[in-house]
Amino acid sequence: MTALDQFAAQKLRDIEARRLRRSLIDTARTDGIHVLRNGRRLVSFSCNDYLNLSHHPQVKAAASAALERYGTGAGASRLVTGNHPLFAALESRLAQLKDAEAACIFGSGYLANAGIVPALIGRDDLVLIDELAHACLWAGARLARANVLAYRHNDVEQAAALLAEFRPQHANVLIATDGVFSMDGDLAPLPDLAVVAARHDAWLMVDDAHGLGVVGDGRGARFAHAALPDIPLQMGTLSKAVGGYGGYLCASRPVIDLITNRARSFVYSTGLPPATVAAASAALDIIARDPDLTAKPLCNARRFTRAAGLPDAQSAIVPVVLGTAERALAASRRLEEEGFLAVAIRPPTVPDGTARLRFAFTAGHADTDIDQVAALMRERVLA
Ligand SMILES: *Cc1c(COP(=O)(O)O)cnc(C)c1O
Repeated sequence: MTALDQFAAQKLRDIEARRLRRSLIDTARTDGIHVLRNGRRLVSFSCNDYLNLSHHPQVKAAASAALERYGTGAGASRLVTGNHPLFAALESRLAQLKDAEAACIFGSGYLANAGIVPALIGRDDLVLIDELAHACLWAGARLARANVLAYRHNDVEQAAALLAEFRPQHANVLIATDGVFSMDGDLAPLPDLAVVAARHDAWLMVDDAHGLGVVGDGRGARFAHAALPDIPLQMGTLSKAVGGYGGYLCASRPVIDLITNRARSFVYSTGLPPATVAAASAALDIIARDPDLTAKPLCNARRFTRAAGLPDAQSAIVPVVLGTAERALAASRRLEEEGFLAVAIRPPTVPDGTARLRFAFTAGHADTDIDQVAALMRERVLA
């Protein structure tokens, strides 16, 4: 073994000893709800394809047509030759849905956050971030080399207190939060955060990866509250409810123009394949015109929480925190024996001691499957 191999093997033994080693398991998704895994067909509660649009006939047809006509790849960065006209159509749909002046598509949600934050925030600035915000918002803040302060999850008062103390030392301040928290399923108090941001002259950035297509009539977390908060930076992904791949930012025209000039993950990375862009446009059309469909994931999540005796779901995501990694893995195995897939989520994706099953409900889940998995949780896992 080389020194490098020994290094890797030792690291893996450490991870294994803490029951945190992960492995790739072949999983074929056949219809947006079921998966083929370990030789069995399972009902998946672990896909973020909330509207099952990854298999929608219109979405697939749009992708196929673009694939046949324009091929498999973009050819270059969007600033060179990768800016297919399909991008403009997708960006105007997104901006309209999010009630923003303009939008910009990135290669993925992770790339979006890794590019947006450093394009707006520098070394002498401050990023105030929810402690449970997604890893890629944290990555953006670190890449910006900014001063980073975390506030307790959804604690607006603490965020305000930190701003009162530290705002004066910094030229620019960004407040970064998920709109719907990816591992907890709860909503950020966006109206209150927007008021605090305005009072302290800070910019509010919301990652709506799990809001778009699911809450606020499908328009996302900004539209899911009694008041409509002012959010100058609305980012998200096309890889969850939209059913495909890609990330986006919706913002004002000048902000979008700056981002397309300065976000390094935009400038130095190849544009999305045309078929992927066409698929996202077709999916957004469905999201914009079908409120019954976008209401379904939350409806199904609430059916589950009621039947399992858990607090009412606020989004399509329902966490069942079990504590140790061991316990979460055992619960996941038990469900899999019964034909249900709910993958155990362990540190470092979630804080130590909060390993869990994370259920993601989609529009197409059958009532009988939801009821059965709720009964299993109540009687076999939580009892
Ligand atoms: C999944 C996710 C992302 C990353 O999006 P990708 O398009 O998958 O890279 C970003 N933020 C949150 C909150 C997410 O859950």
